[in-house]
Amino acid sequence: MQRVFIEEIAKYQGQEVLLRGWLVGRRSKGKIHFLQLRDGSGFIQATAFKGELTEEDFELADHLPQETSLEAWGVVRADSRAPGGFELALRGLKVVARPSQEYPITPKEHGVDFLMDHRHLYLRHRRAWAVLRVRDEIERAIHDFFHQRGFLRLDAPILTPNAVEGTTDLFEVDLFDGEKAYLSQSGQLYAEAGAMAFGKVYTFGPTFRAERSKTRRHLLEFWMVEPEVAFMTHAENLALQEELVAYLAGRVLEEKKLELEMLERDTTVLQTTAQGHFPRITYTQAVERINRLAQEKPELGLAPLAWGDDFGAPHEAALTLGFDRPVFVEKYPAAIKAFYMQPDPEDPRLVLNADLLAPEGVGEIIGGSERIHDPELLRQKIREHNLPEAVFDWYMDLRLYGTVPHAGFGLGLERTVRWICGIEHIREAIPFPRMYTRMRP
Ligand code: ATP
Ligand code: MG
Repeated sequence: MQRVFIEEIAKYQGQEVLLRGWLVGRRSKGKIHFLQLRDGSGFIQATAFKGELTEEDFELADHLPQETSLEAWGVVRADSRAPGGFELALRGLKVVARPSQEYPITPKEHGVDFLMDHRHLYLRHRRAWAVLRVRDEIERAIHDFFHQRGFLRLDAPILTPNAVEGTTDLFEVDLFDGEKAYLSQSGQLYAEAGAMAFGKVYTFGPTFRAERSKTRRHLLEFWMVEPEVAFMTHAENLALQEELVAYLAGRVLEEKKLELEMLERDTTVLQTTAQGHFPRITYTQAVERINRLAQEKPELGLAPLAWGDDFGAPHEAALTLGFDRPVFVEKYPAAIKAFYMQPDPEDPRLVLNADLLAPEGVGEIIGGSERIHDPELLRQKIREHNLPEAVFDWYMDLRLYGTVPHAGFGLGLERTVRWICGIEHIREAIPFPRMYTRMRP
């Protein structure tokens, strides 16, 4: 008898096969027992009819506790009512291990905190299974996308001597003899060095920000993909982001239909996203839009903005209303953005940056910009931002030896997974979330 995986069960219709996995749950109607099984690759119902397996196995099928590990064999049968389209007509069972105590996550409703305290077990459940398989697809799609376009993957260091995105949310690490380092907030500066060496690179790794807030979109440790390209302009940067996000939406729609169905995801916006053509508005238009909304729709409770203010989460959410796909907000005031961003030649108060806001009220999933390539201008910005020049000497070297215009962006993996899966909170978009309020398990 061949051992198969649930994922590929359709190929074995009518045949007797062996599954290895776990018991998710069961119910009984006297002469029929229904066992919900999973094997990591999927979920399936095994149906035990009295008489089709030995008396002992039939009894066993009605007495196994949740999360018993087992071998089950039987005949694969098409069943249009089954979620995967197939079920197993059980012929026999063998227990591998019975749980030594009652499994804590029962079919009854549990609170989120309880489930996240048991994340090491909660990973086994349908919802986590669907979300984390979408995450895996997105990760692979990211690598495919960049490799198909001639990018080199460059691994940035995690221990770093300096901040990239400001010093307030840095995690400090003790090195030796009182020396300090910081956990990387972004691989960008290193990606810039890579772009000058390899032309097109991307980093993809964990990044750390000491966010002392309880939001649904911030983690302390998250994964970011950061492409950086020599000679790339602001306009080309937006085009690359649009192409990437459209590709990711398309890949998940194509490859993870079952998972999206299990999550009951309405895929309308994913379909429009996959077509590209993301609208673009400027920061200045965005401020006007928010102030108009604040007046016309007081029920949104939006605080009006002055030109020069940064957007809060409710502002970003409101900006996405009325768009059926992600929207770019470009050209922010230099004063509220990082030191390395290239000024807009048409208005030096602005920088050539953009945030990409995901629709459905989700908000920012990408931040990107053209970088300053002129050494004098960069030196001036480092001083204006009161940054220690000595730590940035190597970064300055990139401008001293054959500097070229260049640009890049950072896409947050968990924010993207959260949006594509249509889940409320970012904590479910990563296997083991690290947050202000959670370090365990
Ligand atoms: P926000 O204003 O929402 O905190 P940011 O402006 O700090 O975002 P960037 O510095 O531009 O974000 O980082 C690039 C991307 O990294 C963001 O668009 C987002 O997708 C992701 N990101 C940033 N901070 C976090 C975080 N704490 N948790 C998860 N993802 C994050
Ligand atoms: Mg932030």
